[in-house]
Amino acid sequence: MNKGTLITALFFLALGLAGLAAAAAGPQSPRQADLQKWAIHDETRPQPPVVDPGPAGAPVPAPGDAVVLFGGQDLSPWTNLKGEAAGWKVENGYMEVAKGRGDIQTKQGFGDCQLHVEWAAPAVVIGESQGRGNSGVFLMGTYEVQVLDCYNNKTYADGSTASIYGQYPPLVNACRKPGEWQTYDIVFHAPRFDKDGKLAHPARLTVFHNGLLVQDNEELTGPTGHHVRPPYAAHADKLPLKLQDHGNPVRYRNIWIREI
Ligand code: MG
Repeated sequence: MNKGTLITALFFLALGLAGLAAAAAGPQSPRQADLQKWAIHDETRPQPPVVDPGPAGAPVPAPGDAVVLFGGQDLSPWTNLKGEAAGWKVENGYMEVAKGRGDIQTKQGFGDCQLHVEWAAPAVVIGESQGRGNSGVFLMGTYEVQVLDCYNNKTYADGSTASIYGQYPPLVNACRKPGEWQTYDIVFHAPRFDKDGKLAHPARLTVFHNGLLVQDNEELTGPTGHHVRPPYAAHADKLPLKLQDHGNPVRYRNIWIREI
């Protein structure tokens, strides 16, 4: 083997080893690569394309094995974060965020689940960017699927409607007009921790917004946060579902959940 052939062989050997190392670390999806490419809440990150989801339908009936968390009448499955009665407004079959009353959470804890939520941003448009129709669905009180009015309202992509807040923008912007009912159908797999509290499997989220796939089995980096991507911290297998009081009178109706 001459010197040139040897160098070529070593080059391809190195290439092969690098490939094996990458395969061992697990394939990275383009969406995961974007986590490194864009800083959190980067205003220049491309906006999700707008897609008209069609008109709102009637409330989706809860299936027989679902736990109904809000059927339109009362907030008895919910408390505030201190464990006191949830102080949000209930009328005409919906609940509405009561500014300053704080987040509310379910009395029951949930882990892996299928969750159906219907919500509406305020019909009277006030504010812009993150100040317009902001609320949030927090799986396990920790992992937020953003609720926001992004109908003709620009904000940073990783904080827009149906984003996994601060991590993954939605694949499309499927917002209906403010005041119209919208749906989230969420499949959540809770993170798993080993007996030493070390992360064994990260959390995964799939989200349909108004019937359109907007999060496709995404792997969360850890809890969601504002300007932070904190690492996972070991927690219980089941924790309450939380809805956010971000100061805007967002409405919710017909919330049901199936444990999976
Ligand atoms: Mg929010």
